[in-house]
Amino acid sequence: MSAIKVNALQKSFTGAPVLKGISVEVEQGEMLALIGSSGSGKSTLMRHLSGLTLADRGPASLVEVLGRKVQQHGRAASDIRRTRARIGHVFQQFNLINRLSVQTNVLIGALGRVPVWRSLPGWFTDAERRLALEALELVGLREHAMKRASTLSGGQQQRVAIARALMQQAEVILADEPIASLDPESSRLVMETLQRINRERGITVIVTLHQVDYARQYCRRAIALRDGEVFFNGPISALDDTTLATLYGTAHETAE
Ligand code: ADP
Ligand code: MG
Repeated sequence: MSAIKVNALQKSFTGAPVLKGISVEVEQGEMLALIGSSGSGKSTLMRHLSGLTLADRGPASLVEVLGRKVQQHGRAASDIRRTRARIGHVFQQFNLINRLSVQTNVLIGALGRVPVWRSLPGWFTDAERRLALEALELVGLREHAMKRASTLSGGQQQRVAIARALMQQAEVILADEPIASLDPESSRLVMETLQRINRERGITVIVTLHQVDYARQYCRRAIALRDGEVFFNGPISALDDTTLATLYGTAHETAE
């Protein structure tokens, strides 16, 4: 079964086409890089995968995640919440609650769509607390569990966000530019963490990256968007200089 299936997806914002008929599939257990220059439509495509954005109407327009419809013909599926609960999001701006502990931030993943104000101390079960510590162990931050989230570095906060998605028991993780604001060492640790949860937990990961180097290092396949169209879809090893030059302009540098 495919983890994600997208067919004939079109989206315009105030008349301007941003996605121009995207059809792609992602296998379960894959770690896929979604690349392309700024403004090519990567984030917009990611938001369609969890139904945060609805496509334009189209007879063949469809998004399925884990075999369930998220949206079809530009309308949200009626059981979209159940599907969304299995999709974890990781963003460039980690979205942690600064004044809460690292562990509580992870526990919030267990709340699903319950409002955050219900996360009072003592609200979580011992079993949930143990699971949160296990998730922190997996991302290499167990010893930081009791610290305030705000005291951690950017890269550590991003790994807390990944642990939160683990706590949510997400089967698919959509990471949109997770390393865009991080230094090289933190970027490496975040990418290794995504790779570890992909390999050890079998979680399907889609990661948008604007540095092709990281895609090469951590993903086997890439899908590249260019002006809202799929310009490349294949093994990373097939991304040659000509393709990259078309994607990013002739001045593209593979090393920073
Ligand atoms: P990327 O993530 O690849 O940088 P985006 O998906 O964020 O690209 O954006 C693709 C294009 O769609 C851009 O031109 C952007 O300005 C436009 N766009 C994205 N979201 C909206 C929106 N909500 N309203 C209007 N235009 C948008
Ligand atoms: Mg983006």
